Amino acid sequence: MNLPLTIKETQAGLMGKKFKAAEIVREYLERIKKHDQGINAFLTISEEQAFEAAAKVDRLLENSGKDAFSQYPLLGVSLALKDLFLTKGIRTTAGSKVLESYVPAYSATVVTKLEKAGTILIGKTNCDAWAHGASGENSDFRPTKNPWQPEFVPGGSSSGSAAAIAANFSLIATGTDTGGSIRQPANFCGVVGLKPTYGAVSRYGIIAMASSLDSVGHFARTVNDARRVFEVTKGEDGLDSTVKNASPQKPKSSKLRIGIPREYFAQGLDKEVEKSVFTAAHVLEKEGVELVEVSLPHTKYAISVYYIVQPAEVSSNLGRYDGIRYGNGRNSFGAEAKRRIMLGSYVLSSGYYDAYYLKAMKVRSKIIQDFEQAFDNVDAILAPVSPTPPFALGEKADNPLQMYLADILTVAGNLAGIPGLAIPSGFTKKGLPLGFQLLGPRFSEETLFSLGERYQQSTDYQPKVAI
Ligand code: GLN
Repeated sequence: MNLPLTIKETQAGLMGKKFKAAEIVREYLERIKKHDQGINAFLTISEEQAFEAAAKVDRLLENSGKDAFSQYPLLGVSLALKDLFLTKGIRTTAGSKVLESYVPAYSATVVTKLEKAGTILIGKTNCDAWAHGASGENSDFRPTKNPWQPEFVPGGSSSGSAAAIAANFSLIATGTDTGGSIRQPANFCGVVGLKPTYGAVSRYGIIAMASSLDSVGHFARTVNDARRVFEVTKGEDGLDSTVKNASPQKPKSSKLRIGIPREYFAQGLDKEVEKSVFTAAHVLEKEGVELVEVSLPHTKYAISVYYIVQPAEVSSNLGRYDGIRYGNGRNSFGAEAKRRIMLGSYVLSSGYYDAYYLKAMKVRSKIIQDFEQAFDNVDAILAPVSPTPPFALGEKADNPLQMYLADILTVAGNLAGIPGLAIPSGFTKKGLPLGFQLLGPRFSEETLFSLGERYQQSTDYQPKVAI
């Protein structure tokens, strides 16, 4: 069977009895069995649960027909979850040997919401251990590979989720973005990735990396699908006090203005990336959007600030894995987690706190102000996601500093807590994915979605599958 590639196609097919949910599940599982040895997108396959959920979907459709979709907006939509999302009764590892055999007693809010919306869980995806990484190679189990060309990385840390969408192992997948971990792998795998506003989606039940930066989002093949998933996942749950039901931030006028940030096109930006981003900007310009140059002058400090604030919070969050209450002992931590615990403890230690952590927090405020000033003038910002297309497996694996620099264009968005949407924009001459990101003021997801949808409509975007 030819698997449907969007939510709309899936639901139309189910409604028109072209296929049953159980058949879709069987097809995904077959594809995974056949192709995932070469990709390593999954750590756990939840076959039994998937067939149970599919049977429920088929029963519902049998009994209530099309009415079922109003009650279950994501009915029949297959789902893969980054292995950082707690799933009751299903192993959740965070990509780390510390939690190798940890089976949670409860599910994350987002997991419950997606389940209640009618999704079908296919499995848990591979990721860099504790979400530390930008290539998928830092998983304690096995590296994920880019489904377009397996000698290249898929990006990270939500490596398996992005790869699963590119390889068509699932229709949607979740991720977390603390410094770029949704947008960058989406960009490297040629799929859509949403990093919502900090505080738009509950973090309850998601293994914490850096609590003031973590945001919970997802991957899909089209912007419209990403929008549909966000409609379900967003909003208060009473369990994460940073989440509020904010009303959407509206554009200033009907003629939208998009800022092109000078600092994001600095030296070192790959020529093919640059060209592709400008081409996308001009597509939107033709659609009636006004392009203006903006400046985010503190951009050059973003990576330094991030690599102080983030390890400080990591060192605190990883303190709970002491091998006493659950999980294996601390000697099961890999080198990168240890590096971050040490860095974080150092920048927080008395005598160094003022020089590093406090200073970083002050510069973080400057970065927030940069965006606020820019958004006084524009409704969104369009920029590259990563300075280069996907790099080769092994190329940066032994050089933490080089790996950290992969996030140079994404971390500022996390420091400022603003939403970001990564959208594919073609391929390099070598056939590797290219893309761009739209950033907006807090709670402006609506604007980003409508811009992204306009871009995909006017380019007549047809999702492609890597395998
Ligand atoms: N690559 C970045 C890091 O290693 C971002 C990770 C993330 O967003 N989870 O910290």
